[in-house]
Amino acid sequence: MVYIVALTGGIGSGKSTVAEAFAHLGVTVVDADVIARELVAPGTPALAAIAAHFGEQILLNDGSLNRLELRQRIFSAPAQRVWLEQLLHPLIAQQTESQLQAASSAYALWVVPLLVENRLQTKADRVLLVDVDQQTQLARTMARDGISQQQAMAILSAQATREQRLAVADDIIQNSSTVQALNSSVAALHRRYCDLAALQHDKEKI
Ligand code: ADP
Repeated sequence: MVYIVALTGGIGSGKSTVAEAFAHLGVTVVDADVIARELVAPGTPALAAIAAHFGEQILLNDGSLNRLELRQRIFSAPAQRVWLEQLLHPLIAQQTESQLQAASSAYALWVVPLLVENRLQTKADRVLLVDVDQQTQLARTMARDGISQQQAMAILSAQATREQRLAVADDIIQNSSTVQALNSSVAALHRRYCDLAALQHDKEKI
């Protein structure tokens, strides 16, 4: 069994930046958002099932999923949301598991933005939180996505709170400083995770 470190944090906290730093150190990165997107890419059985269920209007002209339309369809219809979750959740879980188990590094980094919201912390051996003060988080999100403070705030308020994330974290990276500072925190954590993974591996042999 591969040792799994889950990486989480709010929007704009620095998850992608942290994941990139771990990837540079040779760590296999499995990204929950990428998996969820790829599962409904054009030509997939899941997208065909969604189109059959909701009608072809759920697709854009190029055949890809109209996410905005889908979000609106399930927003006020709990039964539709449940249908969609029952379709996608097992597929996501299966794909995540197979990518994690295929990891070629000492441990795998599993990037899960909605770890706390979806109570997935028990699926990981260790939870790493990227933490940043709210003002910095808002400023970086606005700059990256070209959105207003109000829009950024709306996304942030719909997510778990900083306190809820801190409650499940084993390790915390503070990302209020520079990217260089972030990279040295990642290097230190990498050494620790290699040790912890080796320890678990030894235990499994006994
Ligand atoms: P997330 O994946 O959590 O949404 P990102 O890693 O995309 O967050 O970071 C949000 C934005 O902030 C990006 O534009 C990123 O380049 C920038 N960023 C991340 N960390 C820092 C830092 N320490 N200093 C300055 N900018 C940063």
